[in-house]
Amino acid sequence: MSPTLDLETVNSPGRSAASLGAAPAGKRVLLAEPRGYCAGVDRAVETVERALEKHGAPVYVRHEIVHNKHVVDTLTNKGVVFVHEADEVPEGAMVVFSAHGVAPSVHDLAADRGLRVIDATCPLVNKVHNEAKRFARDGYDILLIGHAGHEEVVGIIGEAPDDVQLVDGQDAVASVQVRDENKVVWLSQTTLSVDETMQTVVKLRERFPKLQDPPSDDICYATQNRQTAVKAMAPECELVIVVGSRNSSNSNRLVEVALGAGADAAHLVDYADDIDPSWLDGVESVGVTSGASVPEILVRGVLERLAGYGYETVYPVTTANETLVFALPREIRPDRR
Ligand code: SF4
Repeated sequence: MSPTLDLETVNSPGRSAASLGAAPAGKRVLLAEPRGYCAGVDRAVETVERALEKHGAPVYVRHEIVHNKHVVDTLTNKGVVFVHEADEVPEGAMVVFSAHGVAPSVHDLAADRGLRVIDATCPLVNKVHNEAKRFARDGYDILLIGHAGHEEVVGIIGEAPDDVQLVDGQDAVASVQVRDENKVVWLSQTTLSVDETMQTVVKLRERFPKLQDPPSDDICYATQNRQTAVKAMAPECELVIVVGSRNSSNSNRLVEVALGAGADAAHLVDYADDIDPSWLDGVESVGVTSGASVPEILVRGVLERLAGYGYETVYPVTTANETLVFALPREIRPDRR
């Protein structure tokens, strides 16, 4: 039988990390809130599930619909076929584009093959695509802060390959070249560390004082909220466990943010079984959170495993309440008639 979890609230929305000092000593879990699924991931996964219900297997999905092993394995077992590129999809078949977005050339390839496309790109990724198109049209050099090779970055660069330069971290700033220092703007991948991104922007602005900011934050609300919750929790934690997959950008950033905010150690795990018991040696306070592509069932598994080691009391650390929901793609919305 699974150990019972005792959830108590010691921190209400908006209270500072300092208030966590009221937590009693002894083995305990601090559980970050918000964590897990964001609105874009929720929409993308539901899109694939509805496509399966409506059209039956196989449904083809270009790239992992979201960067989570459990989600991908579960959908594969239901009849989803994940492919690297649209030319692997049989002509005329249905294909879903992942939450990370695609370059226009991918839409062109799908059209050439007569594929029936459902685009599950997160609306907040689409926002960055639209910014890139607009600034390129207006003759700007666009400095895109992001990680080389990440699907989202590849898609955004594809909107204006001659006008977008990737800036992958502070070390890349020195090699940036622009055509006109008066027309330079920075944009960013949605899932970066807020603090590291702003450090890169400071360095870019030292080189290009007229550098423009994006019209609104590109690092999305979900990424920011999960980092803020971890920052509130981490100073009280000897260990932070982040549930998430290795290829999940926002999950990896949560590990970094936890360490930067004062956790003694932080580890990324896909599943509860990935927890190494030696991590718990001498540890009383364990923080738990999860990336934006992680279903809550995986967090429950981690909490149950920790309870088995005596960490039965769970204190939520809440820094925001999320209510955002995105409408499903038009092609898959329920018929209202
Ligand atoms: S992490 Fe942000 S940008 Fe990515 S899918 Fe979620 S809401 Fe959209």
